[in-house]
Amino acid sequence: MSRKMAVLVITGKDAGGFLLGFLFLVLLALVTGRAIPALAPLHPALVGKVITIDPGHGGIDPGSHDDGSVLEKDIVLEIARNVCYLLARARAVPILTRHGDWEMSPIWPDEKTRHRQDLAARIHIAHRTNSDVFVSIHVNKIGSKSTSGAIVFYSKDKPESKRLATCIQQAIRDVAPFRGRSVLEGDFYVLNAARLPAVIVEVGFISNPEEKELLLTPSYRGRLADAIFRGLLAFFEGS
Ligand SMILES: [Zn+2]
Repeated sequence: MSRKMAVLVITGKDAGGFLLGFLFLVLLALVTGRAIPALAPLHPALVGKVITIDPGHGGIDPGSHDDGSVLEKDIVLEIARNVCYLLARARAVPILTRHGDWEMSPIWPDEKTRHRQDLAARIHIAHRTNSDVFVSIHVNKIGSKSTSGAIVFYSKDKPESKRLATCIQQAIRDVAPFRGRSVLEGDFYVLNAARLPAVIVEVGFISNPEEKELLLTPSYRGRLADAIFRGLLAFFEGS
């Protein structure tokens, strides 16, 4: 066999190996339901951005709940984890304040009440990690069954927070079939204390029967996570 032929044979073999490897990765992605990291879409506007994602409540604080079976702290943790996964895949640097079912108060014991300690800890994490933005995720509940839809809160006199709130709300509109999709000024401790663009995303009302039904569906929680991710992408692309 001539040297030329040998080169051709080796090249062909490599191409076959590459194809087999690629097919294996595609198969792996289909089986695990996850995107292939090597092929994950990289978003230049998000690369290297430090983004604190805060699932509200946790531990002894269940947040909003419906006769004890549906707990806000569990729903928001799953959404927050999914947002972090999408951000990491886009090569941002997500910081998840709470990885499991626990409260955050031991991190910041300087405040008087456990509740205030818990909130202060979350914004402390965003400051300590020099985050670019802070997004706290919650589920809403009120007395009326008819009220529905996501609300995104920002703090007064913080235009970048308002812009972030608007970007996230616009993205949620694409996936949530509910009314009342507001961007509102809110007087909340974490938002007032934040020295960075910060929002509270109330993804929906568990007091609304149809919305509760959807919030209990993993695919809907996944769509909400994707919407929050796309809202963040729009925010950084616009800055
Ligand atoms: Zn909450």
